[in-house]
Amino acid sequence: MPELPEVETIRRDLAKLVVSRKIISVTVASLKLLRGYSPARFKQRLENRDIIGVGRRAKILILDIDSGDKLLVHLKMSGRLLYLPAAEATAKHTHLVFGLDNGFELRFVDMRRFGYFKLVEGGRLEDVAELKSLGPEPLAAGFSEADFKDLIKSKSGSRRVTKGLLLDQTFLAGVGNLYADEVLHVAKINPTRPVSSIKAAEAARLYRAIREVLTEAIESRGTSFDLYVDAQGRPGRYVEKLKVYGRAGRACLKCGATLRKVRVAGRGTNYCPNCQK
Ligand SMILES: [Zn+2]
Repeated sequence: MPELPEVETIRRDLAKLVVSRKIISVTVASLKLLRGYSPARFKQRLENRDIIGVGRRAKILILDIDSGDKLLVHLKMSGRLLYLPAAEATAKHTHLVFGLDNGFELRFVDMRRFGYFKLVEGGRLEDVAELKSLGPEPLAAGFSEADFKDLIKSKSGSRRVTKGLLLDQTFLAGVGNLYADEVLHVAKINPTRPVSSIKAAEAARLYRAIREVLTEAIESRGTSFDLYVDAQGRPGRYVEKLKVYGRAGRACLKCGATLRKVRVAGRGTNYCPNCQK
């Protein structure tokens, strides 16, 4: 499932590829994709409009349209937003196609069909439910170690485990199962540790690990562990740098102990029982 680094990689690519392009045609092949919004109205509001920017919030892509509308793209489990020549054969599971004015198309392909589009007329994002509840962006320039420590402190009365908190998008935006495991390993924190037991020095390590892991993953253009590819169909390279995710049963790269996989907060969780206390 694409997390912050994968969606940010797609955002940066699309910012170069589609900004200033005009959408000349809109083909919606799946009604489910628009979650009840009228396909006719969707087409009418987007055809002959220019894309003027590509943003991101958490794991959501946001296309800015010159009308002032904003289009939210939720990739969810397996959604791909691909920039391809119009002449290229249409893949199975292609649910939406934007024809662009340069002979290319932006296609939404989603095998598992959890992804969806939401057109926000007038672009008033402050009214959008799924954005309202999100926690801070971990890589935002203004998001300091002190801010993070305060956030952790505010949860000190919670009985939750640290991994569960990292997965909670209302606590922090953009970290999912894969990066939560990597971050906790770098921070040397056991995923099952109650949040209430996290000390200030550990919160500081966690903050630095989050920033470091996400930044390096973006530099490697994301992780293609299963289905993720970028906007031009290329895999990300961070998979080579994974320290614990998908490595259970193998030796810890730091200490040689055998990595374990357990279920934490309802998710398969990989960690080193020796390094992560
Ligand atoms: Zn270890």
